Amino acid sequence: MKNYYIPKYGEFRCIAGACPDSCCAGWEIVLDDASVERYRTVSGGLGERIRQAMAEDADGDVIFAAQDGKCPFWNAEKLCDIHATLGEQALCDTCRKFPRITQDYGDFVEYDLSMECPEAARMLLTLPPEKLQLHWEEHPELAGDMPEYDADRMQQLFEQREMLFQLMRDTRHPALAQLSSCLKLACEWENIPLSECSATDSGTAIFAFLQSCEILTADWRRILEQSAAAQNKLGVISEALDCEIRAFSFDFFYRQYLRAVFADSAILPVQQAAFSVCAVVSICCRLHLITQEQQLRIWQLFLKEIESDSDNVAELKWCLETEEAFSPAALCAYLEKLGDA
Ligand code: SF4
Repeated sequence: MKNYYIPKYGEFRCIAGACPDSCCAGWEIVLDDASVERYRTVSGGLGERIRQAMAEDADGDVIFAAQDGKCPFWNAEKLCDIHATLGEQALCDTCRKFPRITQDYGDFVEYDLSMECPEAARMLLTLPPEKLQLHWEEHPELAGDMPEYDADRMQQLFEQREMLFQLMRDTRHPALAQLSSCLKLACEWENIPLSECSATDSGTAIFAFLQSCEILTADWRRILEQSAAAQNKLGVISEALDCEIRAFSFDFFYRQYLRAVFADSAILPVQQAAFSVCAVVSICCRLHLITQEQQLRIWQLFLKEIESDSDNVAELKWCLETEEAFSPAALCAYLEKLGDA
């Protein structure tokens, strides 16, 4: 059995107090069953606090609900009280594994780092195009359940994904043009005729969508307000931003494309990658003269705000399937317009 890894997977180290964000702020922590059982038996004052903090969310999951926008155990030194008092082994799965992501397909496993973590975003988005390669190793044991997918379809998606990877590594053309080519290729594979879609101004629609989403962090609200107030202008894509677009798209295809084996069509992950790039690049262009550090923060916050919120993701997918401004043709046209500046 093969295990696949995103570049630098094994090198990730949490930067804790130096982190510009925190996985302990901005969202609820969903607890796994074993941790819930363990937390019910913790004694003393910390045990009391843990049990008071546990609540049930709308999906029936047990969570630590955010208090004042952050985990109730995140202390003034930006450290975790549970980790400090009971040790790392006492952390729930969510906290112990983040930002590592495991996608187990039964007969192979893929490991990724979530760019909702600023340090993971920095490590992945600054990779040069030639380093956008998966690493793999043979593993003797089956890690999970046997696959429940169509093997031929999976093989087809695997080969298609490799073609998408190659396009994003190819630096003979700008990253935005390459992503537009990915979307056109995905339309061909899915027999979606681009000529039937009339391209409209996706830029305005993308901003309207972002402003309509539930907002989790004050920083993201400020970025949206500043970019809404800025003129709707296009900017020159810097070399650093070009590399970030390639690395983001590579990671997005890695994380999302094979999941189409369980869906009717594989167009949505490519469309969603194009939407995400259009959104982040539009913001970077509006807030021109921003540093690479600020750009990395925008990618990271975009992912934290949109991908980590199931309501926002559901709304986005619905818009991608129904809105003319988010159609493949409209997104291709907008990617090319952004790249022409
Ligand atoms: S977001 Fe990443 S770097 Fe920041 S505290 Fe969490 S794991 Fe560490």
